[in-house]
Amino acid sequence: MSHFKAPPKKSLGQHFLTDRSYIDRIVLAVNPQPGDRLVEIGPGQGAITFPLLRKHGELTAIEFDRDLITPLMEASEGVGRLTIIHKDVLSVDFGKLANGERLRLVGNLPYNLSSPILFHALEHAEAITDMVFMLQKEVVDRMAAGPGSKVYGRLSVMLQAYCQVTPLFVVPPGAFRPPPKVDSAVVRMAPKPREDIRVNDHARFSDIVRAAFGQRRKTLRNALSGVCESSEMEAAGISPDARAEQVEVAGFVRLANLPHASAI
Ligand code: SAM
Repeated sequence: MSHFKAPPKKSLGQHFLTDRSYIDRIVLAVNPQPGDRLVEIGPGQGAITFPLLRKHGELTAIEFDRDLITPLMEASEGVGRLTIIHKDVLSVDFGKLANGERLRLVGNLPYNLSSPILFHALEHAEAITDMVFMLQKEVVDRMAAGPGSKVYGRLSVMLQAYCQVTPLFVVPPGAFRPPPKVDSAVVRMAPKPREDIRVNDHARFSDIVRAAFGQRRKTLRNALSGVCESSEMEAAGISPDARAEQVEVAGFVRLANLPHASAI
């Protein structure tokens, strides 16, 4: 008999993965190794949790829905050591959770929160080895896009500056219960080692990228007026007449790293 009785909650983005072949592919993508600290975001009814637990013996899961906590604990009996953190994932400090080790995050994320969760995880990038996440395919396309693509934007630049982003495979709506309206995709993100991250001033980088793509139809000269001078763009090797979608990630990094008047 199933432990899970509550119907799926739309407000919490609950679309439970039921197709065995995609569950297997996610477990294969995670490929847990001895000693890994696995942390799942949003275990739901345990579609990914229990196969991972069976393989790895141990897992921490962060779930906001109180109705799922007891059923998850009951269903884990005899499978492995499941620790549940009953919290909003956005309030979880991954640095503290890692406690000097590094975490491997996995999750079929609630789609309404996917960008906030990605940015939250990035704040603790030093505590994370990698993340294997299921998201809306459209979001994965934006994360992995390069200059010249229609969907290249703030999310692409911010994530690619700090992470290696690798789209893995597409998952159709029929693999879930209830089915979402859109295709999903699984992506791996691996935070770059500190020495490979070229951004010196993270706040300035974020401000520049936000302003540049905030008005993506405008030239950078206009979109970035008040944020940086045309002479700075030229010094960074970027034409002030270009638009944000034409500038590669490294260009934004060079621009943000220039000595800036307000910082002197
Ligand atoms: N992993 C399960 C699966 O694949 O079937 C469930 C995935 S479902 C798309 C998203 C899960 O995230 C749900 O269990 C939902 O309750 C949980 N969730 C939603 N908002 C959350 C939050 N802020 N913090 C933690 N978990 C959350």
